[in-house]
Amino acid sequence: MDGKSCSSNTAGKPIRCKAAIARKPGEPLVIEEVIVAPPKHGEVRIKIICTSLCHSDVTLWKLKDPPANFPTILGHEAVGVVESVGEGVHEVVEGDTVIPIFLPDCGECIDCLSEKSNLCTKFPFKLSPWMEREETSRFTDANGETLYHFLSISSFSEYTVVDIVHLVKTDPTIPTNRACLLGCGISTGVGAALKTAKVEAGTTIAIFGLGGIGLAVAEGSRLCGAKRIIGVDLNQDKCELGKKFGVTDFVNPGNCGDKTVSQVIIEMTGGGADYCFECVGMKSVVHEAYSSCRKGWGKLVMLGYDHPDTMLSFNSFELLSSGKSITGSIFGGLKPKSDIRILEKRYMDKELRLDEFVTHEVDFKDINTAFDLMTEGKSLRCVIWMNK
Ligand code: NAD
Ligand code: ZN
Ligand code: ZN
Repeated sequence: MDGKSCSSNTAGKPIRCKAAIARKPGEPLVIEEVIVAPPKHGEVRIKIICTSLCHSDVTLWKLKDPPANFPTILGHEAVGVVESVGEGVHEVVEGDTVIPIFLPDCGECIDCLSEKSNLCTKFPFKLSPWMEREETSRFTDANGETLYHFLSISSFSEYTVVDIVHLVKTDPTIPTNRACLLGCGISTGVGAALKTAKVEAGTTIAIFGLGGIGLAVAEGSRLCGAKRIIGVDLNQDKCELGKKFGVTDFVNPGNCGDKTVSQVIIEMTGGGADYCFECVGMKSVVHEAYSSCRKGWGKLVMLGYDHPDTMLSFNSFELLSSGKSITGSIFGGLKPKSDIRILEKRYMDKELRLDEFVTHEVDFKDINTAFDLMTEGKSLRCVIWMNK
């Protein structure tokens, strides 16, 4: 069954299909039959073709308290085909290939119209378990129990409902197992270098955490012409892997003896890196990354997602007198509706690399393997095929 041929029969009706449900924190997902309600005003129901796993899925899967909610359908890096649209949706039609993006882009508010921001005011980004406009769910399980949405996407389901402010039409000629990566991690890392930091040619970069996000920062920095890219990771295997993505030097925090990572980086660079990117999501790493920035102009870009209650602390005089700056970067500062197309074109023009990030591919029934591979540090991106 494909999205196009079944859609005329299913539009306006509930669809029964399979979804991987996270019932309890940290417990393996269970593939069950679910009922996906038709899209309401401003919503689109899509058939997922493939989806990949990002560390944010793993973080929220392990979390015992809100913003995690159970039972839920995780997943937010995906490509799908429009099955049917709700009232008021004109931007996409049945049969269109789309990439859902967790960050809303209404295209109308002051922020969406500004080149400076990717934080929509009309639909503020929040970790909500509901649909964007109505604060209800479109998913129920076979017993009629409500299932929570995740990051406005919930792509670990054969069908899902997504608000139009979260959808980007994609070039259907791009292989789906590459296009799905643009839905979160790889776009985020590349965007952080290109748009948030605006890395200049000849500069020195330090990347803390060489997973999908960190190595995408390396890819973005390479595109910007960075001279030196220092990778920091506890996993020694990332040393060889990093070289494939242009990482020129590797620091394993476990091998620094009595020195801190920042002392090592300051020595290596004669004063610190021009740009440091935190791609782990850990308070201590944020502080090390800040300390590794060069005084006067060094910039720390925070990308990792730590527990939402985590507080950071910086010495006031040090911050005042260092000349360094700190910024967070959600979705790499990219504007979903316009910037994804630019990355797609750069991939098709063979400038931006995506293929190298896909280290594993599994069938939907083996979705828990994707979680194992990521938690064991063996994968960058594992693509999960819904119906291969
Ligand atoms: P990943 O699991 O693929 O990579 C994390 C890497 O960090 C691994 O290589 C691991 O070995 C390394 N690491 C762990 N602890 C470390 C430490 N103390 N010091 C150095 N390295 C360490 O994860 P990912 O998919 O690349 O995601 C990375 C982070 O980015 C996560 O926190 C994720 O939630 C976040 N994220 C943020 C955004 C955003 O919009 N800002 C988007 C996607 C993901
Ligand atoms: Zn907006
Ligand atoms: Zn993500």
